[in-house]
Amino acid sequence: MAPGQPQVPTAVDPAAAESWFRTLHQALQLESDRGFGDLTGRRERFSVFLARSLRQPPEGLRPAATELELAEQFTRYSDLTQSQRQHLVTRCRQCLQAWRQRSRPADPPGPPRLRLVEPAPAPAALARLTADTPLAEIPGVGPRTATRMAQLGLFVARDLLHYYPRDYLDYANLVRIHALEPGTTATIVAAVRSCRTFVSPRNPQLAILELQLADPTGRIRVSRFYAGKRFTSPAWLKLQQRQFPSGATVAVSGLVKDGPYGPQFQDPLMEVLSSPQAPVRSTQIGRLIPVYGLTEGLGADRLRQAIAAVLPLLPGCPDPLPEPVRQAEGLIERASALQQIHAPANRDQLQASRRRLVFDEFLLMQLGLLQRRRQLTARPAPPLAPGAAPHAGSPAGGAGVVQRFLELLPFGFTAAQERVLAEIRADLAREQPMARLLQGDVGSGKTVVAVAALLTAVEAGCQGALMAPTEVLAEQHHARLAAWLPRLHVNCGLLTGATPARRRRQLLDDLANGQLQLLVGTHALLEDPVQFARLGLVVVDEQHRFGVRQRDRLLHKGLQPHLLTMTATPIPRTLALSLHGDLEVSQIDELPPGRTPVRTRLLKASQRQEAYDLIRAEVARGQRAYVVLPLVEESEKSDLRSAVEVHRQLAGEVFPDLRVGLLHGRMASADKQTAITAFARGDTQLLVSTTVVEVGVDVPEASVMVIEHAERFGLAQLHQLRGRVGRGAAASHCLLVHDGRNPQARQRLEVLVRSSDGFEIAEMDLRLRGPGQVLGTRQSGLPDLALASLADDGEVLERARELARRILERDPELSQLPHLAALLARQRRALSQPAPLN
Ligand code: ADP
Ligand code: MG
Repeated sequence: MAPGQPQVPTAVDPAAAESWFRTLHQALQLESDRGFGDLTGRRERFSVFLARSLRQPPEGLRPAATELELAEQFTRYSDLTQSQRQHLVTRCRQCLQAWRQRSRPADPPGPPRLRLVEPAPAPAALARLTADTPLAEIPGVGPRTATRMAQLGLFVARDLLHYYPRDYLDYANLVRIHALEPGTTATIVAAVRSCRTFVSPRNPQLAILELQLADPTGRIRVSRFYAGKRFTSPAWLKLQQRQFPSGATVAVSGLVKDGPYGPQFQDPLMEVLSSPQAPVRSTQIGRLIPVYGLTEGLGADRLRQAIAAVLPLLPGCPDPLPEPVRQAEGLIERASALQQIHAPANRDQLQASRRRLVFDEFLLMQLGLLQRRRQLTARPAPPLAPGAAPHAGSPAGGAGVVQRFLELLPFGFTAAQERVLAEIRADLAREQPMARLLQGDVGSGKTVVAVAALLTAVEAGCQGALMAPTEVLAEQHHARLAAWLPRLHVNCGLLTGATPARRRRQLLDDLANGQLQLLVGTHALLEDPVQFARLGLVVVDEQHRFGVRQRDRLLHKGLQPHLLTMTATPIPRTLALSLHGDLEVSQIDELPPGRTPVRTRLLKASQRQEAYDLIRAEVARGQRAYVVLPLVEESEKSDLRSAVEVHRQLAGEVFPDLRVGLLHGRMASADKQTAITAFARGDTQLLVSTTVVEVGVDVPEASVMVIEHAERFGLAQLHQLRGRVGRGAAASHCLLVHDGRNPQARQRLEVLVRSSDGFEIAEMDLRLRGPGQVLGTRQSGLPDLALASLADDGEVLERARELARRILERDPELSQLPHLAALLARQRRALSQPAPLN
């Protein structure tokens, strides 16, 4: 039959067509597995077989022009290079796949069915179970399993109920291998033909598990990657291999992608459903099957069974939220939510369950924070109003000091600064102590607002304290204040770890007898001998670096002062509410006028010379430049350039004619100060530094910031670093030098090129790297959220916070809501216990 000629379509015999496609696919697979050598089969060579088959498909399958063209190419296969052959084979597979779809009968073979073993009826022993039953007493959990579960922090029945799945296998959407479509999420059930585990030849830290699977419609190769040294031990590799014996039935679930040899799974979930020795036992086939975080020696089935055994505890559990509240918030019952998070019947149910449990997590968190806020503000603070009577014995000269300070400044406040200062001053005038967070982008002018607030305290005859996270910053704050305060007749001391003993004693005396009006310092301010006569306001700069406990210690010194915390690293609102939910939030969302945004560019390491050229050009115009590095010194473990090494190289080889300074955290405090002063004065024109410059160093003439190994930093941190330039009138530049090998890192850095809005950048960072990374430190005090996501569940958080506020307003002790109170108390106890090792 010649193509192109009109013809009556013949019916396709589906079985014959299927078998023909399968044979061709197998031939193509084999050819590619063997490296495209044009294999000789039983009767003919691979290429001859393909050319012939494509031209003469079974009855009813009509080759299109593409197929005939492919056939033509296969006749010339021996003339093709290896990569042309590979290309042709790939094209042919794609083409066949499409052809197969086209020719498939309207009623395709249905999803696979599995023969299931009925679950055993629950033994009567279950009736004795309570939420506090130790796991070892749960039917089916022996002492050995209980020990393994303890490693996951699971000790009693209740813990299992709250051990949420980390994902689900979607058995409701089972498909056959031949029907896998790129771009969809699918689950197949297939037999293991072979299993191989090996260490990647290119990366000794990467283990690869490779399975050849088959179902009646086709074959597929599935790989999983395990990064990390512990996965590459021969024992671990063997163990994995043993889990997937030939003939076992496995489920594979995940996103299907287009691979070089047809559809393939990307990082799939895999589970053995049955092996030749043990038939399928799962009770939940045909639904969403929960996948739990496991530990060595604890199988998925074992854990699922144990959880199934405790689920009957749930019905009848009282709900911590009364029915009308649940209705208003659109929440399902907590008991059902817990039940269904482990055994959802469908996606909708899963979503409703998740929402309820996420809501509860946020609600408990916010109740805790808002109760804490009540405690913080329970005792009265000295009202700091301009008209307030000066305290006895306070130094004279307080009156009008804020006004005189504002007049002293060479600029007027922005509208945002005015608004925020008014918010703060209104708080300060009250007896209820202020607990406020001041957020604002770098350079938005928070510090001057904070100084005006401190002077408000002075004006009212009280003392003020300003705490900074590093000595460098404390010294710089002090230097800035020293430029203004003498003219206002206000005195101010500096107290850091480096303050000499005699000076220190003098300061402490003046502080205790009330002669000293303002004190600037680091954590040293928290130490016991520091006593204030009349502490009115504490300003904490870069608050998130101070733990809650440190804040408490300060608050317990003498008077209950007002508290203003500042962060120059704006964080997304969800994070702010979780971390600082006990504070009111003020936001400076406007930069002072006349700032030109910093021009940001990405440079590959090989383009570093461009950065040096720019530095040279800017320095020639009287500007200064920073070069920032992640490390102080070389470490054996990494090939990162270090500050010390780069300083040596820049000073000695690249810029022998310039004066190059060095600043890093391991230098003595006096040396750090010298390095900063020299740079600020222009004695050095180039400052090589670690991230010590991140916080607050202010040199208006600095117009270039080069950041090496930019991919090692978080976006928020880079933005913060970038804020060190662009503080003067000159157009400024930020050059991010990165290792060009990682496209994802590059994409992340592009956000900085596009945006100069700290809030937007922080939001992206939260999405890309998670809250822990955004905050940069492990002691960030973030609450434990098992299910809730600070990136995605913002709306639920707002609602939960609002509800928490309303509840506490009416019923601060939660006496009307005993079940909620119990839940909160249990969470507090859990948090005060040491975390399980893992
Ligand atoms: P932040 O602490 O928010 O990073 P700063 O208070 O250190 O910002 O202010 C950054 C720079 O901008 C300082 O040099 C400061 O004197 C200046 N500045 C602050 N407010 C204004 C304003 N309203 N107009 C012009 N310059 C301002
Ligand atoms: Mg500042």
